[in-house]
Amino acid sequence: MTASSAPGSGSATGCHAGADEMSRAAAAAGKSEVLERYAADYPTGPHDQPQSMCPAFGSLRVGLRMRRTATVLSGSACCVYGLTFTSHFYGARRTVGYVPFDSETLVTGKLFEDIREAVFKLADPEKNDAVVVINLCVPTASGVPLDLLPKEINGVRIIGIDVPGFGVPTHAEAKDVLAGAMLKYARTEAERGPVQQPREGRSGRPTVTLLGEIFPVDAVGIGRMLAPMDLAAGPTVPTREWRELYAALDCAAVAAIHPFYTASIREFDYAGRQCVGSAPVGYEGTAAWLNAIGKVCNVSEAKVAMASNAILPAIKGALGGAPIDARITLSGYEGSELLVARLLIESGADVRYVGTACGRTPWSDADREWLEAKGVTVKYRASLENDLAAMHEFRPDLAIGTTPVVQKAKEHAIPSLYFTNLISARPLMGPAGAGSLAQVVNAALANKERFDRMRDFFEGVGEGDKAGVWEGVPVEHVEFRERNQQQLERQAKRRKAQEMV
Ligand code: SF4
Repeated sequence: MTASSAPGSGSATGCHAGADEMSRAAAAAGKSEVLERYAADYPTGPHDQPQSMCPAFGSLRVGLRMRRTATVLSGSACCVYGLTFTSHFYGARRTVGYVPFDSETLVTGKLFEDIREAVFKLADPEKNDAVVVINLCVPTASGVPLDLLPKEINGVRIIGIDVPGFGVPTHAEAKDVLAGAMLKYARTEAERGPVQQPREGRSGRPTVTLLGEIFPVDAVGIGRMLAPMDLAAGPTVPTREWRELYAALDCAAVAAIHPFYTASIREFDYAGRQCVGSAPVGYEGTAAWLNAIGKVCNVSEAKVAMASNAILPAIKGALGGAPIDARITLSGYEGSELLVARLLIESGADVRYVGTACGRTPWSDADREWLEAKGVTVKYRASLENDLAAMHEFRPDLAIGTTPVVQKAKEHAIPSLYFTNLISARPLMGPAGAGSLAQVVNAALANKERFDRMRDFFEGVGEGDKAGVWEGVPVEHVEFRERNQQQLERQAKRRKAQEMV
């Protein structure tokens, strides 16, 4: 990322400056309020900020997945390159807008004028319902005032948010920054007067809004589970279209399936909607969740019992029909790690450790307590070091984790699964979740013998100096290293002697 000097902020504000320096610059440039809100919404303590991708990716992805929404990045070219690359790698079918800058446009205020001009160009009601502008690290640290953008142009909503890496800990929480900003906007629209109905019309029954990106089949499954209670599944937030935001707010209750959506939950709270944590995963999880939803939605105990009786035997059957017999460690940054661990344990797995990059909120308390009662170590804001230490300590038969965890597991011939690609991309809820998770886990476990053979075959290859692609076999020159070492030692001795003079 380029470093730019911003006299307005009184400091160099490139990413090399470090998070503290960037935060100080942003505060000096008038962004204290937003940074304080992020610190309260997404606390990083007691652990440090976890290693993760650029947080802004979360907001960008939410914007790019919405119909009739233009998403524009304001930040350094290298950050924008990385974010654009990642979005298209994950199948974004929309253009990523970019307003470039240099030191001069940043410090003279011209960048804000350029953003304003871009926003006016994009605010075409024929094409867009909303234009989202995301300030990355440098513009946030320099105080580019997106809140001065018009709130609406020709009926197109303009949403400006700051998503700096030094203020928002994970990309998961950055999804909440944009989802929360959109819900806030939609809530004020709904308070002012009539708003658009959902595309398929309003549900005939009270709905439960699903908070968190879930596998599409799960939303259908949850709808079926709710039907005996005369409830229906509402929209999933982040939504795929602006008008769904109104339907999301117009619910009987909110299911915080992913527990880190603090800003969104605040908006639901302002709209007078109650929130329920955890999710219908496994037998016990589903039973508890149906009860909690029933209570919040004033459903009679008889109807809750009807809903439970309709689904719990099938879940029990699915769990019993697809057992998992293995010791597992699990970590990720999606926010659903605790739910997956519950399902693994109900399938018979011996789960020792769950690490999540997300922070602790009241909405995962029920899952944390359930897991801890089973002797599982639950680590919020888990770092890569925490995850690797757990893998070394518990010596699992299977490690589920992020890319570097999986890579380390492979080096040790431990079967492993990428959380994001292989666990998040399948159903988790109800009977479908139980069967599907066991299938992928057991297939990975069956690879153990292959891993052992590969480790034995490749033992020593591609390690240390031999890592990388070579045309021939690298020749070790032990004498070079020895000579260098001797020189370094002589140098150190000379320095010591000079210090004593
Ligand atoms: S915007 Fe993202 S990639 Fe760029 S410096 Fe900030 S955290 Fe890093």
